[in-house]
Amino acid sequence: MKQAGESGPELGGAGSITLPNSSTTLSVEEYASQPTDQTRTGFPKQGGQSLSYWLQQVRSDPLLDHRTTEALPDDADTVIIGSGITGTLAAREHLSIWPDKSVVVLEAREFCSGATGRNAGHCKPDQWRGFGKFEKVYGKEQAIKILNNEADTWHALISYVRENNVDCDLWVGDTMDVPIDDKVARLSKEIFDRYEEAGGRIDHVKVTQDPVEAARITRIKDAKACYAWQASTLQPWKLTAHIMRGNVETGANLQTYTVAKSVTKSAGGRRRWTVHTKRGDIACDNVIHATNAYSAALEPALEGVITPKPHICTKVVPPRAVSGSRAIRNSYGVLLPDGGLCSINSRCNADGNVLFGGSNPGQQALDDWVAKHPENCINDGLADVKGVTDCVRHFINGNFVGWDDAEYGPGEGIQYSWSGIIGLSVDGVPLVGELPGKPGQWICAGHHGHGMARAFTAAPGLVKLMSGQTWESVGLPDVYQIAAGRLEKLKKATASRVATI
Ligand SMILES: Cc1cc2nc3c(=O)[nH]c(=O)nc-3n(C[C@H](O)[C@H](O)[C@H](O)COP(=O)(O)OP(=O)(O)OC[C@H]3O[C@@H](n4cnc5c(N)ncnc54)[C@H](O)[C@@H]3O)c2cc1C
Repeated sequence: MKQAGESGPELGGAGSITLPNSSTTLSVEEYASQPTDQTRTGFPKQGGQSLSYWLQQVRSDPLLDHRTTEALPDDADTVIIGSGITGTLAAREHLSIWPDKSVVVLEAREFCSGATGRNAGHCKPDQWRGFGKFEKVYGKEQAIKILNNEADTWHALISYVRENNVDCDLWVGDTMDVPIDDKVARLSKEIFDRYEEAGGRIDHVKVTQDPVEAARITRIKDAKACYAWQASTLQPWKLTAHIMRGNVETGANLQTYTVAKSVTKSAGGRRRWTVHTKRGDIACDNVIHATNAYSAALEPALEGVITPKPHICTKVVPPRAVSGSRAIRNSYGVLLPDGGLCSINSRCNADGNVLFGGSNPGQQALDDWVAKHPENCINDGLADVKGVTDCVRHFINGNFVGWDDAEYGPGEGIQYSWSGIIGLSVDGVPLVGELPGKPGQWICAGHHGHGMARAFTAAPGLVKLMSGQTWESVGLPDVYQIAAGRLEKLKKATASRVATI
C-alpha cells in the first residue's frame, strides 16, 4: 500500500534543525513564519490531501460531501466562498441579520477541509507575546487592541460551545508559554514588562521567573520561565460542522466539491456579480471571500498580500510512563532559541494524544524545501515528512521530562503527521472589509496561522459591516481593515521584498 508521505520531501534529520531566523523578536503568531516568495498562490489542491487527525475522526459524517440542492442555484443574495470557520461563521451571522436572504456556501473539496479542518486545535488568545512586534508596527494602542480582541474572541468561542453544548472536546485550562533559553527568557520579560507599562491587561497571566519552579510547573527540563493563562483546545472540524448544520437548517445552501473559478461583474440583470464554477454560474449581489490561504488565486489584487504556506502537525501517543495520572495537563508554546516556537496541544480532557505543531521545530527546513519547490505552496497532501518528524522527536526527547528514557511499545510514540495551508498576510494581521473598488465583494482572510483566535469576532464583524454598521461599532482592531491605502502599502512592501530576494 502506498503511504501518503512516500514521495514527500526528506528534509534531513534531527541534526539539521534550523530555527526561524529572528534573533531579536519572539514569534508573534502561534504558527507562522514568513515566506520567502510572496508571489506564490494557488487554488485548493484537488485530490491527494493528507487526512488530518480531525478529518480521520468524521469519515462517515454526511456533511463532508453535502450538497443542499442537487443542482447549483443560479441566483443568490450572497455567495460565501469557503467553508472553514470564517465562511461558516459568516453564513451564521448573515442568516441571523437577514433570515430571508439567500446564502450559498461554496467549498472546493470536503466541508471544512482547509486549514480549519487540519489545524492544531488551539484557540489560544495571545495575551502578551505579540505585543513586541505589534507595538513596533502599529503602536501601543493598536497592539493592545489586537491582544484584547483575541481575548474577546476566545470568550466568544467558549461561550458559544458551552451555550450550545457543542460536542467538540473543548478544554479550558492554562496554556503555558515557556522560554527555554536565557536570551529568549530575557526578551520575553522585556516584552511582558513593556506590555504592562503600556497598560496591557496582565492580571490573569501567572508569571514564574524562577527557572527551577518553571521547570517543575511545566515539566520542561530547560524551562527558564513560564507565562500561564487560560486558553482552549478543541476539535475544530466538529465545532465548525455544528455551526454549519445550524446554518443549513436555517436556510443556507452548502455546495461542497465546487470550486469558484472566478468572480466577474454581472452583465446586466438585477445582480451585481457572477461567481463562475464548473457546475454553473451563480448571480449574486454580495460575495464573501472566506478563502484564507487561497484568496489571491481568486482575487489577483491580493497576490503578494496573502500567501499560502504549508505547516505540519504531528500526532504523538504518549508512552505509558507519561500517561494516566502522569499525563501532560496543559497546552504550550515553547519559545525556542532564535525566535522559533513549538506549539503543543495535549488533548488532556479527550484522548490524551499530544499534537506537536502547526509551528514546530522543523518548520524552517520545510519552508526551505517549499522555497525550492514552490508548487508545494498549496500542498496539503504532505504527511510524515521525515525531517519534520525527526525534529519533533528530537524536541520531545530533549525537553519533556520522562519521555526520552521511556519504553515505547507498538502504538505509542509518533504516529502520523499531516499538512495544512496557512494564509500569511504581509503585515501579520487579517484583512477584513469590502474589497477596494469592488462594491459587494467582501473578505475576511489572511489569518496568519492564528485564525481560531480571530475568526469568532472577525467573521461576524465582516457581516455586520455589510449590514451598514461602522468599523468603530463592530469593534475589531483598526489595523484589520482592508482599506485601499493598506493594500497599496502592503503591495509596495512586497514588491521591494521580492526584488531583494
Ligand atoms: C497545521 C496547521 C495548524 C494550525 N494550528 C492552529 C491553531 O492551533 N490555532 C489557530 O488559531 N490557528 C491554527 N492554524 C491556522 C488556522 O487553522 C486558520 O487560521 C483558520 O482555520 C483559517 O480559517 P478560514 O476559514 O479562514 O480558512 P480555511 O479553514 O482554510 O477555509 C478556507 C476554505 O476555502 C476553501 N476555498 C478556497 N478557495 C476556494 C475556491 N476558489 N472555491 C471554493 N472553495 C475555496 C478551501 O478549500 C477551504 O476549505 C493552523 C493552521 C495549520 C495549517
